[in-house]
Amino acid sequence: MYFPGLFLFFSLFSLVLSEEPFNSHILPRPLILEYPGNIIETTQFKQLDNELQLQCTSWRFAVEANNLNPWKTIPQECVHYVRDYVMGRGYRLDLERVSNEAGVFAKSVQKSEDGKDAWVFDVDETLLSNLPYYADHGYGLEIFDPVEFDKWVEKALAPAIEPSLKLYKEILGLGFKVFLLTGRSEKQRIVTEENLIKAGFQDWDKLILRASDDHGKLATIYKSEKRSEMVKEGYRILGNSGDQWSDLLGSAISNRSFKLPNPMYYIP
Ligand SMILES: [Mg+2]
Repeated sequence: MYFPGLFLFFSLFSLVLSEEPFNSHILPRPLILEYPGNIIETTQFKQLDNELQLQCTSWRFAVEANNLNPWKTIPQECVHYVRDYVMGRGYRLDLERVSNEAGVFAKSVQKSEDGKDAWVFDVDETLLSNLPYYADHGYGLEIFDPVEFDKWVEKALAPAIEPSLKLYKEILGLGFKVFLLTGRSEKQRIVTEENLIKAGFQDWDKLILRASDDHGKLATIYKSEKRSEMVKEGYRILGNSGDQWSDLLGSAISNRSFKLPNPMYYIP
């Protein structure tokens, strides 16, 4: 009688006892097998990935709609999501859409001959992009470090947000007075002017920075006060562009506000 199992057993047994050194290189390929378990894991991984994508998109929507309580850092699990968004086409498309819509409004709005129609622009993440800085600091995962950020500001290397530069030129061409209202310190005036000009911005009517007695004020308060001064001087603020709700809310608000996307940080 023939017992194939028994034969195989003795063959393997003699292989183990033989003097030949074990050589994994002669084992037949493939070594990596796709068991059903791996397939299930892959599907589950994709489901988790999709779920994370949805959760982070939902979080970003809440950020942009100003529905979140004040937050200091982006959620840890969304760091890749935020990086992919700001470095990819999504951010660019969103910026272009805001710029285009603001341009349509600026052209349509009734203007006066007295030179008192004004448009307010914020600076950081509105006209200038600090993405090179945030790329080195976790895209908002690290708690904001004002000392480190000021070192970056001093370099005056922030590039223009191109869709905003396009809008900026249109606004000037339409005869608006342009006010730049930033949370940066008065001490950073020279370097801010230098950076703006290098990035292609020019001919603004006023660059307003935080004076010593503005420090410590919430951005919403400080910016409202500065807009109120413009209104007292007889200006009509028809448009306002900013990446923070604190650029746009409060008092002396503009006829139309344009919120640029920013999922990296929140300024109250
Ligand atoms: Mg800003």
